[in-house]
Amino acid sequence: MRKKARRRSNIELIILIILCVTTIIGAAGWAISIFNLKGANNQLKQNNDLMVQMQEQIQELEERINTVEDENTTIKSEKEVLENEKADLETELKDVKTRLEDLKKEIDEGQVLSSTYYGPRPDKIVALTFDDGPGPYTDRLLNELTEKDVKATFFVLGNRAEKYPELLQRMYLEGHEIGNHSYDHSTLTNMTDEAAADNLLKSSEAIYNASGGANPRLVRPPGGRYNDKLQKICRENNWCIALWSLDTRDWDSRDEKAILVEVFDNGDYSVKDGSILLMHDIYETSINASMELIDRLEKEGYTFVKVSELLYWDNGGAGAGGVYN
Ligand SMILES: [Zn+2]
Repeated sequence: MRKKARRRSNIELIILIILCVTTIIGAAGWAISIFNLKGANNQLKQNNDLMVQMQEQIQELEERINTVEDENTTIKSEKEVLENEKADLETELKDVKTRLEDLKKEIDEGQVLSSTYYGPRPDKIVALTFDDGPGPYTDRLLNELTEKDVKATFFVLGNRAEKYPELLQRMYLEGHEIGNHSYDHSTLTNMTDEAAADNLLKSSEAIYNASGGANPRLVRPPGGRYNDKLQKICRENNWCIALWSLDTRDWDSRDEKAILVEVFDNGDYSVKDGSILLMHDIYETSINASMELIDRLEKEGYTFVKVSELLYWDNGGAGAGGVYN
């Protein structure tokens, strides 16, 4: 009986030991598992951090790419603008070179007028010219011309230019043409070569000084009288002789109505496309008549041009020493 109880207690002991060992192994297993899980958790956290970092890097790189692309676009459009500017400048340069060549050719051919300054010819043109001034009425005439936006040509006397420099300055600044009508209205054809040349040169200098820069290319000799000698002087100085095609006879009639009749009701001699009208700004009647005839000519579709323009369009320019009307 005792022996039996001992065996039983041995078996219990063995079971107990087995239970203990099993428990210990189980616990160790749990411990290892928990340890492993913690490690994995740490790893996961690190990976997460890394991922966030990388995403930030990606975002940063994408932003930089966008910035570079924007800069690239800006540079491209700037390049395009510069290329267009370059093309424009090249065209302009070519144009200036062509004009320079034309100018050289004109000078070689003895051209008084330069083609550089003329645009296309208007349909109907007329040139108003005023001789023998300036005088006491020229100021009013200039005011009226400005108001009507009309350009005229003044064939002035050198001694009168000296007397009225402020009027010469106005003519020049207000865009009218100034021609040379001799210094003192002497008949140039009666003079020696030298005296005629001196007279015109003295007048030209007076005009230049009084106006502040006008260099007359057109000479209208007093009375329209010219000869070979005068043409030679003009050739040598690169001037041309600019006469007229319609004499309003204002110097003779001193009458507004009579002047208008000469212009509009004189048969074949009446005004037409390309006419150069002769008037004198030293008579009040001429100023009054010119205002009336400007209005009428405007209504008839005329454009008022300077003599140089008219000669350029209708005579293909003006040669030095040439005579034009
Ligand atoms: Zn005259």
